[in-house]
Amino acid sequence: AHLDRIAAVDGQVHAFLHVDAEGAIAAARAVDSARARGEKLGPLAGVPIAIKDVIATKGVPTTCASKILEGWRPPYDATIMERINAAGMVMLGKTNMDEFAMGSSTEYSAYGPTRNPWDLGRIPGGSGGGSAAAVAAYEAPLAIGTDTGGSIRQPGAVTGTVGSKPTYGGTSRYGLVAFSSSLDTPGPVTRTVLDAALLHEVIGGHDPRDSTSIPAPLPAIVEAARLGATGDLSGVRIGLVREFAGEGAEPGVAAAVREAIEALVKLGAEVVEVSCPHFEYALPAYYLIAPSEASSNLARFDAVRYGLRVGDDGQHSLEEVMSLTREAGFGPEVKRRIMLGTYALSSGYYEAYYGQAQKVRTLITNDFKAAFEQVDVLVSPTTPFVAFPFGSRTSDPYQMYLADLYTIPTNLYGGPAISVPAGLSEGLPVGLQIMAPTMADDRMYRVAAALE
Ligand code: GLN
Repeated sequence: AHLDRIAAVDGQVHAFLHVDAEGAIAAARAVDSARARGEKLGPLAGVPIAIKDVIATKGVPTTCASKILEGWRPPYDATIMERINAAGMVMLGKTNMDEFAMGSSTEYSAYGPTRNPWDLGRIPGGSGGGSAAAVAAYEAPLAIGTDTGGSIRQPGAVTGTVGSKPTYGGTSRYGLVAFSSSLDTPGPVTRTVLDAALLHEVIGGHDPRDSTSIPAPLPAIVEAARLGATGDLSGVRIGLVREFAGEGAEPGVAAAVREAIEALVKLGAEVVEVSCPHFEYALPAYYLIAPSEASSNLARFDAVRYGLRVGDDGQHSLEEVMSLTREAGFGPEVKRRIMLGTYALSSGYYEAYYGQAQKVRTLITNDFKAAFEQVDVLVSPTTPFVAFPFGSRTSDPYQMYLADLYTIPTNLYGGPAISVPAGLSEGLPVGLQIMAPTMADDRMYRVAAALE
């Protein structure tokens, strides 16, 4: 049924870069046979799923929506893919994204943008716009995204889906093509909070192949989602960040979020205002740290190891082949990040830019820690504006970067955060973001499920 739905609507939505119909049918048949043999199956066995094209899938094209990886088929599966397969889930295909996960609209995909199913003239968010659009358009019931600065939550918000970013290190990065290694976090994109918790449970937990994976059991997230669904939030303290209040959410977005918070209060939650004085520096700190790590990580695309190779004709030196390949293979936003990052890391500037940004990161982490001494979770709009029309933010990078104003602090800290649908503004979805302390992912699921 999902393959039929993809065939019917993906010509318009363009959520997928690659559909693996044969693989999906084979995986579904394997689950049927296992069931016939009386094998014990997990709760998501047989459920289809779409995978962001930044996750390595054995034998299935993985491009990161870049020309430089065109035609690359990984020889191995990411850890989260191994777990998805072991759970008997059925991969439908790979979803569109901003190139190397850099962007907030999927307009930076080298293969053309994804359209928002709510309004085909508008962006589905990014970088994981393909995963969110696939779920919103009923092409897939579940999807995987990755969140470095908001790429699960912001697409979730603007497509009316649930986007969950686990605690950094709570889901494995092994086999996730690295953008900014100290921030990258894979997680679920779904239609309900319980679905997100169930999928999180499949993919999460310690992985010895990822050195930053947390060697501790996952919190009881599915239980927390079920508890939240009972609709009782008595005793839960919800923090509003004072410094977010003045910062430019559209009036319609602010109003929808206010209503969602009132709904939480009706369920028994107590609202407390907290101060996080360094959040205003999160965006500039992120745009030094993330490009710095990206410039280092993307050095591996050297025309030798993967995909594209340009100028290998006996007329060019090795260095020329590398630079011709990178010139042709990377899009403009990726090049902008590589240049920014290389500059920030260069000797003489390192302390002034990268070093300074790391200090700001510590201050932001301290803001979170102080806030969580007063409250259980923090809430905010997920993103300041509803889905915007194509082309309206591409001419000024800063306008695009603003989409992640509210999501980025959490990435710098490493805590979990989830975006849940919170009504409409001008007929378009708004998301409420719920942030929790590191390794307290259960708290955000409880509050999120109550709102549903
Ligand atoms: N929009 C942010 C960026 O462009 C976040 C991307 C992400 O989370 N992958 O870097």
